[in-house]
Amino acid sequence: MRNQIVAGNWKMNNNTPETELLLNNLIKYKIRNGVSVYIAPAFTQLYQSVIKLKGKDIKVAAQNVNAEVSGAHTGEVSCSMIKGVGVSTVILGHSERRSLYSESNNFLKEKVITAIESGMEIIFCFGEELSERKENKHFDLVKNQLTKALFHLPNDTWNQIILAYEPVWAIGTGETASPEQAQEMHAFVRQQIEYKYDASLANSVSILYGGSVKPSNAKEIFSMADVDGGLIGGASLNAEEFIAIVNAF
Ligand code: PEP
Repeated sequence: MRNQIVAGNWKMNNNTPETELLLNNLIKYKIRNGVSVYIAPAFTQLYQSVIKLKGKDIKVAAQNVNAEVSGAHTGEVSCSMIKGVGVSTVILGHSERRSLYSESNNFLKEKVITAIESGMEIIFCFGEELSERKENKHFDLVKNQLTKALFHLPNDTWNQIILAYEPVWAIGTGETASPEQAQEMHAFVRQQIEYKYDASLANSVSILYGGSVKPSNAKEIFSMADVDGGLIGGASLNAEEFIAIVNAF
């Protein structure tokens, strides 16, 4: 059975007192057995979150990392810096980084290589824009994103990869992909992994869905055969809503 995972991407929200408050609210709740839960605060709140969540069932992830190991990269953060504060998971390929910071598939490939070599786990995001879906190019687009950024990886590194299908038109818009649309893409992705690698690897990779997941729609989305959980933006900023999503399996 694949890992069931719910990850909250806090984006550029929550300063120190706000983080303290949200974490205090989160740890009041019981997490459903068998679900791996992550929160991804800003870099400046990683250490605070690690300390606060010590011994709890919630892991901490970073939202980004630089592709270089060290050096003259003003304002950037390396894998070893993130690992040094006790965090070994990173989100890569989020659509906001692709569109606002011009992160291409080839650039992401470099980040993936560095993160894998540093022993980090990656939550790798991919997904199409609305125009690409309207033109029926979404399968080709996703295949290209995965091929360029991930399909160079050797088989034995895929235990460090969690996938997150996030159709851009559903992120922060309140518009969710239907459970059938999510299932269709997740099954397609699994098939591509099987073609490139093998069925056993394809069946072992967790694929999360992201895009306006809420307590009211999580159960239906998570019930689809190839959906193994969710990457949650807006709703992860509210402890009650986030835990309701976690417990929707
Ligand atoms: C996200 O940014 O990864 C996301 C899924 O956001 P939201 O849940 O707010 O659509």
